[in-house]
Amino acid sequence: MDQIITPEIKELVRRYKEIWSLNYALSLLGWDMETYMPPNSSKERGEVRGNLRTQVQSIYTHPEFISLVENAKPQNDVERGIIRVLKRQIKYYTKLPREFIEEEERTTTKAFQVWREAKEKSDFQMFQPMLEDIVDLERRKADYLGYEDHPYDALLDIYEEGLTVKRCDEMFSVAPQISDLFKRAKERYPDRHPLEDEPYDMVFLKRLIESVLTVLGFDFSRGRIDVSPHPFTIEMGLYDIRITVRYEGKDFRRALMAAVHEFGHATYEMNISEDLWATPVQRGVSMGVHESQSRFWENVVGRSRYFVERFHDQMIMALPFLRDYDLDDIYRYLTLVRPELIRVEADEVQYVLHIYLRYKLEKDLIEGNLKVSELPQVWNDFMDRLIGVRPSKDSLGVLQDIHWAHASIGYFPTYAIGSMFAAQLYEKLNMRNLIENKDYSRIMTILKERIHKWGSVYPPDELMKRASGEYLNPNYFLSYLRDKYLS
Ligand code: MG
Repeated sequence: MDQIITPEIKELVRRYKEIWSLNYALSLLGWDMETYMPPNSSKERGEVRGNLRTQVQSIYTHPEFISLVENAKPQNDVERGIIRVLKRQIKYYTKLPREFIEEEERTTTKAFQVWREAKEKSDFQMFQPMLEDIVDLERRKADYLGYEDHPYDALLDIYEEGLTVKRCDEMFSVAPQISDLFKRAKERYPDRHPLEDEPYDMVFLKRLIESVLTVLGFDFSRGRIDVSPHPFTIEMGLYDIRITVRYEGKDFRRALMAAVHEFGHATYEMNISEDLWATPVQRGVSMGVHESQSRFWENVVGRSRYFVERFHDQMIMALPFLRDYDLDDIYRYLTLVRPELIRVEADEVQYVLHIYLRYKLEKDLIEGNLKVSELPQVWNDFMDRLIGVRPSKDSLGVLQDIHWAHASIGYFPTYAIGSMFAAQLYEKLNMRNLIENKDYSRIMTILKERIHKWGSVYPPDELMKRASGEYLNPNYFLSYLRDKYLS
């Protein structure tokens, strides 16, 4: 790894350490909020986090800091990475007027409450005016941030550096083939698997998860597993990275696979080079690359017959009802394919179709080719065509996700990048043999060398090319699905 040698960049990294420390504290406060914070603390906690965020912003926008970044002459890849990442941060803090950020915060706070109630009542019209405001806000945001070809590009770039409509269109060009593949694959599976209804002992499942993650390579000296309503991963620094799991009492694959998924996110952060510690590039580079790591472990490694083979004995010890099922039963349970209305319930075959739908609608909304009032109808038709199911009410359709209420327009495509790049790594890095041989430490070493250790030194598309020899190519995903679900 390159060393930081340029004096101005050394000075920037020194100043950045204050931002890094504030972010460390913000993450820890955020983790606590989702896990152990007493219920009445949220207002006070919100105030504290808001003030810390303001401090972060004031360091980024300090004229001296900005001028150091703008005048820096980076000498190597790490230095170039640092300047690239800082320029992106400064862009978001300086291009969006304060009043705009405040307006967005007010609108999304209200929208979240309205969305929650509208979803409960399955009443889209209740949410519609809020969503109209949000679409309008996000179009203005795109104008503030600037773009070359398409206003949606400006929003996509927030979550995945360099992502554009053009690239998304290439990525989703395989959607019709995936839809066909899905319709053929689902014929091979029952509508329901009996293991979905088997209740489990939470204490035993927790132990199973800990032993599985230990074998896969989770470093418990730098990490923890806790419980929260929605599983997530959060990194404080390089030496404190935490994941959460949710235990629902039955259908054990949900907790187990979610844990393996978060493990993938966590190890990405744990494996970043110590040389990058407390610098602006000590972080996973993008949502898409991050998601490729979680999905690689969850879907490619975890939902494989070899994974079931490796952990079969431990599974039976923790979950005695598995004695009545053979290895193939368990594998079929982990890879069950059936049409789902809800994105987060979707199997890996149809998942990208759920994302394609959201991408298409977001793009049309931002272009102005689609009115918010038309969303439910368009959503339902699309689902029918791609997946073969039609929501009977909006809570099972257009109201299901929180993202739009949060004004996170442009986020969804990163999930598709994750699924697709995971398959590309599987193919291009010859992972098949290693997965068959359950050589998890070798798999981890390869991912670390090719991806993890670099943090944000390279932009996501360049990192993907360096890691796999090719830019993102959706055909690998197609062949991965075909092999796994049709052969
Ligand atoms: Mg994830």
